[in-house]
Amino acid sequence: MTNRIVVVANRLPLRRTEDGWETSPGGLVSAVAPFIQEQGGSWVGWTGVPDDAPPPFVHDGIEQRPVRLTQADIDDFYLGCSNGTIWPLYHDAIRPPEFHRHWWYPYVAVNRRFAEQAAEALRPGDLAWVHDYQLQLVPGMLRRMRPDVRIGFFLHIPFPPVEILARLPWRRELLEGLLGADVVAFQTRLGRHNFSRAALRFLGGEGTTRWLGAGDRTVRLMSAPISIDTRRYASLAASHGVGERVAALRDELGTDRKVVLGVDRLDYTKGIDVRLRAFDTLLQRHREQADDVVFLQVAVPSREGVGDYAAMREEVEGLVGRINGSHGELHHMPVHYRYGSLDPEELIAYYRLADVMCVTPFRDGMNLVAKEYVATRPGNSGALVLSEFAGAAQELRQALLVNPYDVDGVADVLWRALHLPPGEERARMQALRRQVQRHDVFRWALSCIEAIRH
Ligand code: UDP
Repeated sequence: MTNRIVVVANRLPLRRTEDGWETSPGGLVSAVAPFIQEQGGSWVGWTGVPDDAPPPFVHDGIEQRPVRLTQADIDDFYLGCSNGTIWPLYHDAIRPPEFHRHWWYPYVAVNRRFAEQAAEALRPGDLAWVHDYQLQLVPGMLRRMRPDVRIGFFLHIPFPPVEILARLPWRRELLEGLLGADVVAFQTRLGRHNFSRAALRFLGGEGTTRWLGAGDRTVRLMSAPISIDTRRYASLAASHGVGERVAALRDELGTDRKVVLGVDRLDYTKGIDVRLRAFDTLLQRHREQADDVVFLQVAVPSREGVGDYAAMREEVEGLVGRINGSHGELHHMPVHYRYGSLDPEELIAYYRLADVMCVTPFRDGMNLVAKEYVATRPGNSGALVLSEFAGAAQELRQALLVNPYDVDGVADVLWRALHLPPGEERARMQALRRQVQRHDVFRWALSCIEAIRH
């Protein structure tokens, strides 16, 4: 493997500190950085600070190429078109997407800026790897600027059914933008099929669910479920520090109580509300057990500048208050809610602590939390309750799958998860762990890079 790789993503893999830069943690960064460090290459993205665009520099063996975003770009391109139009539209229109031309035009302009920066970074023979829903026009723009390079695109979120995409005034532009790539990759087969149907419907032309014609080129479609650094999670989970933290948390919560855990960005796609309602139902049905179980919900602040997110927070916090008001006692509150993020070791201690992990999105591209939980269960204990609408459900078949729109059904499965026979619990977890051990994020990155190269 000798090609340099130029990654194009909304964010650089860095954040500013008082006296320089530090690498920001995250699966994509840890998976892709080793390839760039070995083969050479660049990362094109925004620093996360308005108007911040220093000249290209090298950090961690990677050429960093900042793209400037003004405050207006953040409002219109990022919070507006990306997160107010495309995000809800691509997540089954769970919230009504807003269509505004004054968001769309900045989306086009910012995509062009990313494409220009990438075109400058690319040397002959390099591979360009463009990421996610904020940059769907980049492959087409880059193709016109640099017809000599191979281009791949990976969509981290779902691609919607054709009937939902149909609402988008700019559906043709987005589809044509994506077809500028040589390889367009999705988390699941469903995403790939939806895209193929949409392209054939709205652009015409030839193709199947595996390839599409685009002028004189053939674009390959693939599904490549993203994953985690499984070994790192397993070894952190087995570390002394995490073990001590688990023991301390157990003491705080009551050693005999079963722990149900939810960990999500506070996003309306995640179904935090539904799992709280299901837990409430469970407590109503089994009042005698209210003292034996505790629900921990970590809600990571997200996109606080978008109206739906503030409303979601109020709803979730209202539910937590109601459940504790109805079922709490002086010595025990059934729901512990934390609005904030955890550092990696603390998060892994929570995973280890949890007898049941509850992941109930209405729609999710993948859901890495589900995979992380599985990777941190060394004794094969624990049960994963997983929405069938998460991309992860396509691989994690031994999870207890639920329909998140069915509150009674989720309550039933939650109860079942809390009372799984030990043999079944172990067998399920063992199968889940094997899946994430075999399919880690490095294998994912390699399969994507290989596909772009050929
Ligand atoms: N996460 C974190 N700090 C927290 C809670 C979660 O860093 O306090 C991480 C978690 O480990 C996971 C990611 O955030 O890697 C969430 O990814 P996921 O695919 O589950 O959902 P997304 O937020 O990307 O929609």
